[in-house]
Amino acid sequence: MELLKQKIKQDGIVLDGGVLKVDTFLNHQVDAELMMEIGRTFDGLFRESRVTKIMTVESSGIAPAVMTAWLMRVPMVFARKRKSLTLREDLYTERVYSYTKQEESEVTVSRKFLSPGDRVLIIDDFLANGEAALGMARIVQKAGAEVAGIGIVIEKSFQSGRGKLLEHGYRVESLARVASLDSGEVVFA
Ligand code: 5GP
Repeated sequence: MELLKQKIKQDGIVLDGGVLKVDTFLNHQVDAELMMEIGRTFDGLFRESRVTKIMTVESSGIAPAVMTAWLMRVPMVFARKRKSLTLREDLYTERVYSYTKQEESEVTVSRKFLSPGDRVLIIDDFLANGEAALGMARIVQKAGAEVAGIGIVIEKSFQSGRGKLLEHGYRVESLARVASLDSGEVVFA
């Protein structure tokens, strides 16, 4: 997606540890027009996938996910992140290691928002090592639902995420693929 790449080039800040900061349009302030274009692109890519629900993880996945959901006319549910939680029977819970925070947290979704028969499109802002997407996919499976696909706004293709998701047989579509962040420069694949 050319517009997204331009935004990344213009506003992206490369931090230590291969982290890209895009807080002017995605991770803090949100560019709603760009999010709608992102939604349109995901809608086009997954239109034939019979999606019944969009799922993401709070907080930065919510903006692109809700735009996609609006265009697909399906509900969007976001997994909540919790530090630690006593087991609750009304929740699906998975442990996910956060690449940026370097800590494990729990992601939870209420059982009432996922059902067997749902075809779930997972959307997230970034793909690094695939932990967040795989955690969400495990929740979808626990619910007896199916992963219809995985849509990623910015994929860091120098990390292992795509390979892991493909190994599980998931379809992965990303809108910008970053091949390297070496020397503080964003290089697209
Ligand atoms: P993964 O779970 O694939 O290792 O990492 C993806 C998750 O970590 C995303 O939900 C995203 O919030 C965060 N993340 C990973 N890499 C980056 C990055 O370079 N920049 C930002 N802003 N978030 C990232």
